[in-house]
Amino acid sequence: MRDRVDVAVIGAGAAGLAGAISAGRRGATVAVLERLPSIGKKLLATGGGRCNLLNDNLSAADYTSTDPGLVASVLDRYGRDEIRAFFEGLGLRLQTDDAGRVYPATNQAASVLKVLELEAGRLGIGLETRFEVEKLGAGGGRFEVRAADGRQVDARAVILAGGGRSYPALGSDGSGYGLAASFGHRIVTPVPSAVPVAVKVRMGHYLQGQRMRVRAESRIGGRTVQRAEGEVLFTPYGLSGTAILDVSESVSIALNRDGRQDVSIVIDLLPFMTEEEVAAEFSRRLAAGWAPQDLTSGLLPEKFCLFMPQVFRELGFAPGKEKAADTAGLLGAALKAREYRVEGTRGWNEAEFTSGGVDAREVKPGTLESKLRPGLYLAGEVLDVQGGRGGFNLAWAWASGFVAGLESQPGRPVYIPG
Ligand SMILES: Cc1cc2nc3c(=O)[nH]c(=O)nc-3n(C[C@H](O)[C@H](O)[C@H](O)COP(=O)(O)OP(=O)(O)OC[C@H]3O[C@@H](n4cnc5c(N)ncnc54)[C@H](O)[C@@H]3O)c2cc1C
Repeated sequence: MRDRVDVAVIGAGAAGLAGAISAGRRGATVAVLERLPSIGKKLLATGGGRCNLLNDNLSAADYTSTDPGLVASVLDRYGRDEIRAFFEGLGLRLQTDDAGRVYPATNQAASVLKVLELEAGRLGIGLETRFEVEKLGAGGGRFEVRAADGRQVDARAVILAGGGRSYPALGSDGSGYGLAASFGHRIVTPVPSAVPVAVKVRMGHYLQGQRMRVRAESRIGGRTVQRAEGEVLFTPYGLSGTAILDVSESVSIALNRDGRQDVSIVIDLLPFMTEEEVAAEFSRRLAAGWAPQDLTSGLLPEKFCLFMPQVFRELGFAPGKEKAADTAGLLGAALKAREYRVEGTRGWNEAEFTSGGVDAREVKPGTLESKLRPGLYLAGEVLDVQGGRGGFNLAWAWASGFVAGLESQPGRPVYIPG
């Protein structure tokens, strides 16, 4: 292991590897310091093992951050085309689905990691595993990066790419925040995001394992904050599925950061029909004498048959006694906007990413250098920048890593891959 380098990179995830490669291409000597026994462990788990590495509709509008301008400043320098060109230049064939999600043509996250490793090898980048950075000292214009076991690396610049707190078994245990805070950086309270939620579903035991296409929205204090279309999955504890994960950020911030209780998720169980269409259909069925337990047959999965008498009771109906049109309207509304009060989110082991992190206003737009400590660069999920699901978080990791790497070794010619 080299103990004196130009650039030390903390974390061998997506952002750290991109940063190391871009610094290496500028001629820097680079050491990547990774606490786990192997590199890119989270990368291998992304996209269900397929690695959704980018979204072709990439834009700064798809991110939330304490400094949205920071995201734009990075994506302007290193956006969709540059990310595509980077991977294609490494020999990785890409494929894109209808939603703009970009994957390796091999459908294997391992291919992504392999081309990054090959490039790091060509550039002579040192990859140090089992190097758990515990302390980051600075003095005399240089940094001293110290591991828990006493090993030490001296560097002119440091890229802090330790990730957030989600899925700690994949490496990111939140220690990057402590390292940034040791230089005075403010940490926006990290909360789990893209995470399932705990709700009480009446008759939920019948619905367990049921998946269906829905529209979902998060409501905080009665106000709609996020909307998504996708899948809901009824689970023993509550709700999961893509639509729930996509609205979970606002839910998690409200519950886990702001301590609010007035948090709910509203689900449209019949997104393929308007409220009027649903009411007309129920009206017809009621007029024809359909029993409550049969009313949703052909519209909702059959498990809901068991659930309908309960909905009737909730709405205070006595079947047969109400006017069909009124009943149909209320039933339709109950299924088009079913509100579940959220009791909590699941934890870090089930969160795809972290919302919060190092305050993005404390790094310089366009360069990602810390405003508090020259020579320190921050990249990836450690910063308070979060994208939607669909390739946006990895896109941020590549883009910010690449920019931090370039800036950490300024003034040298950019390497052209051969
Ligand atoms: C299951 C799962 C699936 C996902 N799928 C997708 C997807 O398909 N598309 C997408 O865009 N996003 C996806 N994400 C989110 C995406 O993986 C992350 O946003 C992205 O990997 C963040 O990259 P990073 O380099 O900033 O952090 P990480 O990938 O978390 O890397 C940080 C690295 O730093 C190391 N480290 C941390 N602290 C220290 C320390 N003190 N010393 C040394 N090393 C340290 C960690 O071990 C880790 O290897 C997924 C996330 C999960 C959990």
